[in-house]
Amino acid sequence: TKIVIVGASHGGHESAIELLQKYSNVDVTIYEAGDFVSFMSCGMELFLEDQVTTQDDVRNFKPEDIIKMGGNVYNNHEVTAIDADKKQVTVKNTINGTSEAVDYDKLILSSGVTPRSLNLPGNDLENIYEMRGYDWATKLKAAMNNDAIQNVVVIGSGYIGIEATEAFTKAGKQVTLLDSMDRPLATYLDPEMTKYIEKELESHQVKLGMGVNITSYLGENGKVTAVEADGTQFPADLVICATGVIPNTDWLKGTVNLDQRGFIETDPYLRTNLPDVYAIGDAIKPYNIPANQQMPIALATTARREAQYVVDHLFENQASVPFAGVVGSSALSVFDLKFAATGLNSMTAKRANVSAQTDFYQDYLRPAYVPVKNGNLPVYVTITYNPLNHQILGGSVMSPYDVTAQGNVLALATSKKLTLEDLASADFFFQPGFDRQWSLLNLAAQNALGWER
Ligand code: FAD
Repeated sequence: TKIVIVGASHGGHESAIELLQKYSNVDVTIYEAGDFVSFMSCGMELFLEDQVTTQDDVRNFKPEDIIKMGGNVYNNHEVTAIDADKKQVTVKNTINGTSEAVDYDKLILSSGVTPRSLNLPGNDLENIYEMRGYDWATKLKAAMNNDAIQNVVVIGSGYIGIEATEAFTKAGKQVTLLDSMDRPLATYLDPEMTKYIEKELESHQVKLGMGVNITSYLGENGKVTAVEADGTQFPADLVICATGVIPNTDWLKGTVNLDQRGFIETDPYLRTNLPDVYAIGDAIKPYNIPANQQMPIALATTARREAQYVVDHLFENQASVPFAGVVGSSALSVFDLKFAATGLNSMTAKRANVSAQTDFYQDYLRPAYVPVKNGNLPVYVTITYNPLNHQILGGSVMSPYDVTAQGNVLALATSKKLTLEDLASADFFFQPGFDRQWSLLNLAAQNALGWER
């Protein structure tokens, strides 16, 4: 059976290894339009902060890894069209410009997304960067080491913008973080949490411009010099734009059904409208369990789970079990604060039209007899739940101490539709070196239920 995979990132990689491990009679080929195979953008901040071996190691796999398993990987090969009747794709060699038709029995699309640049006056000035993939990583690193670049404006305070802010601040640059929303990480965390994030950023001399309307880039001699927002000019020798993404699906228009924003439409079995053509990764809208609807979730974790599902059901005539869905979990450090967030929060629940309430809980990690200087650090929790049946819809944990693994407990509770009552009495360990007589999430759920302690 001939299986063609488009895109060599998380989705493509997971599909290939799952196929080659699970089946013996498969001919697996990955086509990748880019030159460098499988740069892992998730490791970009670590690379920028010199915490990795080399840039070329920041990747999901080397082509040899898949070749050793019996698969094929072609970089600089862009898939430009699908002929569903002939079951062929057109593959263009981007080095010599030639194209060939390649047969497939099954086709897996994981063509991902590209950062969306702001269509503002001055967009064509030099030193307006993005943060995704190998080539941008190279450019960002060079900018970081360039003494002529002192003022950096990061636009967009999602997790990519925050990673850029932290890396460039640590490199000694003066960073201004701008967003049209009124607080950083607004789609990830509730305001009770982001107020600590704002303090943390400001205590590291990051200038915040939240809730601003960005109108143009200003420049001199072809290079950007400032970003204008609400009539204020924020000086910028470099701009890093992290304001969202657009799916790499232009080449599918007219063949594969796309939504208005260009996301690939998939059924509950991750099938497209074409027979034997599946789609996974950032370019689709997977089923979101707490939202009970399909929506974009741009995470490597999601792409990998989708790939695993598709491979498991690829040879069933009629897929038996729909894709279970995801909750969307992420974690991040913001200087000395570390947080993990999962599922819905007040803002995303509202956007998804899901009735939800969020409870904020604040405490110390360990029993009161342990002084703060000995590691009894503050911890913050939010739990978002359905006010009628108490189903947990998401939540977050944050502390200067690394409590991010507790975020995975919330993720499991969300995906398994546990209730506040379940979490309030769940049997978690107690050891005063780590936590309290009742564990952090027990206490947070009890607080949401109004239990007196
Ligand atoms: P993508 O990674 O978008 O890659 C698609 C690939 O397909 C590209 O290599 C592209 O060149 C290729 N391609 C596109 N069209 C074609 C074509 N027609 N023919 C051939 N090849 C094609 N996620 C997490 O879970 N945790 C993290 O910590 C995390 N950190 C991140 C940090 C940054 C800075 C960024 C940018 C992203 C981060 N993500 C993280 C998100 C994660 O990187 C994505 O969710 C994941 O890469 C999506 O994988 P994908 O397979 O959908 O495609």
